[in-house]
Amino acid sequence: MAPSSYPRSGGYPPMTHDYRVARERMVKNQLVPRGITDRRVLEAMKKIPRHLFVEEALQGEAYNDHPLPIGHKQTISQPYIVALMTQALELKGDEKTLEIGTGSGYQTAILAELSEKVYTVERIRPLMENARKLLAELGYVNILFKAFDGTLGWKEYAPYDAIMVTAGAPRIPDPLLEQMADGGRMVIPIGDRYSQDLIKVVRKKDDYRQENLGGCRFVDLVGVHGWKES
Ligand code: SAH
Repeated sequence: MAPSSYPRSGGYPPMTHDYRVARERMVKNQLVPRGITDRRVLEAMKKIPRHLFVEEALQGEAYNDHPLPIGHKQTISQPYIVALMTQALELKGDEKTLEIGTGSGYQTAILAELSEKVYTVERIRPLMENARKLLAELGYVNILFKAFDGTLGWKEYAPYDAIMVTAGAPRIPDPLLEQMADGGRMVIPIGDRYSQDLIKVVRKKDDYRQENLGGCRFVDLVGVHGWKES
């Protein structure tokens, strides 16, 4: 494809330097002071061009301390929440990681930097297709995509060392618990439709230990083991 036909090339690469500075600031001002200490997470957040995951009109806001709309009534999470959830998965680099709610694909890119292989599930096909295209352009070859109800997990490749759910659910879907590896970690927002707690689950054989990482607000996880479509 000729570079001129890239839809996202306006102002880029000329703006690359400015965005790199914006990312450094985001890490320094939003992540480190709030307790993000995992060096690999901080490096990935410094590296991934978050502005490419939002529409052009919003690119100038991409490194601000809040979520942004990505179409289809969905959002890309606030940078701090992305970092907090990723850090909770304790990724070392050799994991099989399952992500539910691909959305823009930004969180997917972070997980792909930090895991061996990422399996990502999104129920809104056009979002999945956009993310697939962008992540291929960015050079990721360790991501598999599926348009499906992620409350059912992705049984074919289970078990997973790490599972991240980026939409809020009324309770933890059983299939996701079943698809955790022994020693595996999961992070998922659980609560009502307006506010949730970020729950971390660590599985040791048949023991599932839960920890509350604090309040958050996500769009609905819609599916068989989630909310009904409204
Ligand atoms: N991590 C994403 C956040 C997207 S918002 C990002 O960085 O952009 C949450 C996403 O979860 C939405 O795209 C929504 O369509 C998706 N979602 C909701 N319920 C789902 C389900 N049951 N299975 C898969 N994806 C789901």
